[in-house]
Amino acid sequence: MRATMLAMYKERVISLLDLRWVCITCKCGTSITMDLSRKPRQDANFAPVMCQVCGELFDTSIRNLNDLNVAFRAMLELAKGSPDTVTFISRVSDDAKP
Ligand SMILES: [Zn+2]
Repeated sequence: MRATMLAMYKERVISLLDLRWVCITCKCGTSITMDLSRKPRQDANFAPVMCQVCGELFDTSIRNLNDLNVAFRAMLELAKGSPDTVTFISRVSDDAKP
């Protein structure tokens, strides 16, 4: 008989307002934390194309953060007035080390 390890999971509900920050970490270790509520300048994108420290180009999928920024800002007023309307659920393992 084969023993099976079952991981226990908890769920954490995160409001849209609490999901406000997004972080990109470069291969060189540099982390860039960006505020999703920030509207980029008219001539700039929200998502960076490259690391400002080492010059490494980020994966092109990072560009999808531009759309996430637009969606977040579009829902921001709704979230401020009614924080429970849109929530996210994060699954957290009991086995996770602190
Ligand atoms: Zn870098």
